[in-house]
Amino acid sequence: MVQLSYSITTRLLPYGLSLSSSVAGRPGWADILGPARARPARHLADLGSADRRAAVAELGQPAYRADQLSRHYFSRLTESADEMTDLPASSRGALVSALLPRLLSATRELTCDRGMTRKTLWRAADGSFVESVLMRYPGRVTMCVSSQAGCGMACPFCATGQAGLTRNLSTAEIVTQVFNGARGLARGEVAGGPGRISNVVFMGMGEPLANYASVLAAVKRLSDPVPDGFGISQRAITISTVGLVPAMRRLAAEGLSARLAVSLHAPDDELRDSLVPVNRRWKVAEVLDAAWGYAASTGRRVSIEYAMIRDINDQAWRAEALARLLAGRLAHVNLIPLNPTPGSKWTASDPEVLPVTVRDTRGREIDGACGQLAAAGRDPTL
Ligand code: SAH
Repeated sequence: MVQLSYSITTRLLPYGLSLSSSVAGRPGWADILGPARARPARHLADLGSADRRAAVAELGQPAYRADQLSRHYFSRLTESADEMTDLPASSRGALVSALLPRLLSATRELTCDRGMTRKTLWRAADGSFVESVLMRYPGRVTMCVSSQAGCGMACPFCATGQAGLTRNLSTAEIVTQVFNGARGLARGEVAGGPGRISNVVFMGMGEPLANYASVLAAVKRLSDPVPDGFGISQRAITISTVGLVPAMRRLAAEGLSARLAVSLHAPDDELRDSLVPVNRRWKVAEVLDAAWGYAASTGRRVSIEYAMIRDINDQAWRAEALARLLAGRLAHVNLIPLNPTPGSKWTASDPEVLPVTVRDTRGREIDGACGQLAAAGRDPTL
């Protein structure tokens, strides 16, 4: 069953950021796989429970301290040695400095939507910048995270794509973005009172499936029950991809219940080859076949992301072509008004251009500075 609705999808744009740039043309394997660089410091959130126990034992501490430390981090949401009063004072500092190094520092925070949306710009230890956004809506808080610093997919309408790929984030760098959102919410720093993160979307900077191992481990850390993780339901986690077919097939075999979103943006190869350059390697038919494989093995409806770009991909015949491709499939279409990037020759479609069901009727005013971000949480499926 295909549902067309005028809902808006989470999207981060690095406003005002200049990122160190690499390739801004057609992606090659180095872009798809990510460059080899020195990894960020090891962190508790990089490790599964057996490795955490081993790491604690290496420090000469009893292995059960790994569970205590994990509980502080994932449940009490603290990384401060002073607050870990159940650990002997003599070992706290060593455990914290070995397993909870500071990976990201918040360098800028923007809020909009009456404090319900909070965007954070993070600086990593090597100087790379990434962004995350927390979006609060009645009954739901969605955290949008980055999986890479920059992106190598070179989609011409996307600001991150223009900047090129800097590097993959580590699992813990991804988890840290959620940790900080969760801690801010728990401490009542976000308008609306204390709360919890209910949803996570990999729709910030980067192509999550090009950083496969770190993203998969992050999904586990987010969804594993306390003390091994945050205990967020996998069903409330969305991984968004340009359509890296081999990685989509691999993900389908992982036994996850996370949602997959496919950034389609065009039903035909001719246009998609230019809007999503990786389409030159994996065509629409292959991408959708892999998407249906994911739907079949997980039972989850796949989200089809479609940025509406005026006079580029918003013709009625393309809508019909899209409908034919998706008819009878376990899919849901999210139409996203294009958020024009600085200097872009493209603009958003007129919302009236297509006869679609307008599902979102709340019509909240959105602060222009974070327009698309503020709108993101409206899709109740994300
Ligand atoms: N690389 C992944 C996830 C990151 S972006 C992916 O492409 O799916 C999340 C979504 O925002 C994608 O659907 C992406 O195509 C879309 N997007 C990027 N730039 C945009 C813009 N300027 N306006 C609207 N949507 C945009």
